[in-house]
Amino acid sequence: MPASLLSILYLVVVCAPMALAVLFGPPARSLWNELATGLGLTGLAIILVEFVLSGRFRVISGRMGMDVTMRMHQLLARAATVMILLHPFLYRGPHRYRHGQTPPGSEALDFGFAGLWPGILAWLLLGAVMVMALQRDALYRHEIWRFFHGVMALALAGFGVLHALRAGRYSEAPQLAWLWIGLFAIAVLSLAWVYLAKPLYKLAHPWTVTGVTPLADRIWELRLAPNGHKGLRYKPGHFAWISLGRSAFSLNENPFSIASAPAADGTELRFVIKELGDFTNRIGQITPGTRAYVDAPFGALTLDRHPSAEGIALVAGGVGIAPMLSHLRQLKADGDPRPRTLFYGNRETAQIACGPELDAMAQAGDLDLVHVLSDPPKGWTGEAGFVTQALLLRHLPPEALTRWVFVLCGPPPMLEAVETALMEMGVPSRNILLEQFSYD
Ligand SMILES: Cc1cc2nc3c(=O)[nH]c(=O)nc-3n(C[C@H](O)[C@H](O)[C@H](O)COP(=O)(O)OP(=O)(O)OC[C@H]3O[C@@H](n4cnc5c(N)ncnc54)[C@H](O)[C@@H]3O)c2cc1C
Repeated sequence: MPASLLSILYLVVVCAPMALAVLFGPPARSLWNELATGLGLTGLAIILVEFVLSGRFRVISGRMGMDVTMRMHQLLARAATVMILLHPFLYRGPHRYRHGQTPPGSEALDFGFAGLWPGILAWLLLGAVMVMALQRDALYRHEIWRFFHGVMALALAGFGVLHALRAGRYSEAPQLAWLWIGLFAIAVLSLAWVYLAKPLYKLAHPWTVTGVTPLADRIWELRLAPNGHKGLRYKPGHFAWISLGRSAFSLNENPFSIASAPAADGTELRFVIKELGDFTNRIGQITPGTRAYVDAPFGALTLDRHPSAEGIALVAGGVGIAPMLSHLRQLKADGDPRPRTLFYGNRETAQIACGPELDAMAQAGDLDLVHVLSDPPKGWTGEAGFVTQALLLRHLPPEALTRWVFVLCGPPPMLEAVETALMEMGVPSRNILLEQFSYD
């Protein structure tokens, strides 16, 4: 399904409660009351759809990119939070009628306790979920945060729906009541898919660590082989959630780009992993034979939607080299004749991963290799500094700007700078694919 269709579907779903309220609900009240209700209805719909935007559905993240999906998840959650936090404060007018006694078109609201308490709980939980999400890196281990985020989000969605059904003036219409129940069921099924169905599938399709080797300064290669199954169908540019030495139901999963290529590595998966935190810092201690689980493939950094690109420019920052290796290995194994240039940015030479393999590709004429070091050693004759517009223009043929596809992966500031440079150089945005390794 194209991304534009997904966006339209999204808008239809989150606007559906308002539409049903207008079509099937009682007559409208004062502007403030309608605004308060409208914010509540739309905010709740956004929250319920957030479960589907959790990133684990390929039909969504495969089209939009995992980082875009996650940023949408975060931005929309913030919008819904503002709507729902404002919702109770905007009501105006008499509140003297009980639920079920509301005269059509009156200003009445149900302030009875049965309708109110789930709303108060949902409102408080939403504030707590938002504060925890904003502070997640500072306060908790990622897995602990992920657990509480899921449980609390489900509770707040449940209380929110209960509040709408009990206290909502418009939700008395069966059409809207069923929509809430349907959206809540989808939210529950989304969580069951991620935390139950996927682990069960992984349990039946385990992997084994076949090697962990150092590639560069604090950068490792991890190799996995399928254990009793045919392996994974993936494309270069995809990434996987992996867990090592844990239960298939563990929340300790981390995302890593696949650096191997199906045509070059067969069923074996290779990853390039940089030490960063509690999981990656221990990667060098993982021993061959360790049980692994893989949830994949994800991501939108694949070239399949650019078959007519006449050349490929790859721009990698640091460990952003991982998906580029996958592309380069596949292109080489396929004997793809198209020209390709790799801009590989690092601080210093010690950080260059797979240097000999890249040099061999360059010497064989398969690749124009441009190393860019921000802190080059004495006597360095290559490019120094950062990947800028001038640097790109020095190494790319003029036709690349309109006829090549550009694949970008690296730290967010670098991606932003290179994307802006490319757009200013006239590269159409549809020819730029990018993925960042963080959702912040
Ligand atoms: C799509 C994608 C592809 C990636 N590919 C690679 C790769 O090929 N090589 C590589 O070295 N790194 C890659 N990363 C980054 C890698 O996932 C993190 O460095 C790693 O998860 C950090 O885990 P940690 O426990 O060692 O560090 P922590 O100190 O726990 O976390 C460091 C940072 O990573 C984030 N993080 C931690 N755990 C997770 C998680 N389970 N899911 C999402 N973010 C998390 C945290 O929010 C924090 O910002 C990729 C990230 C993404 C999103």
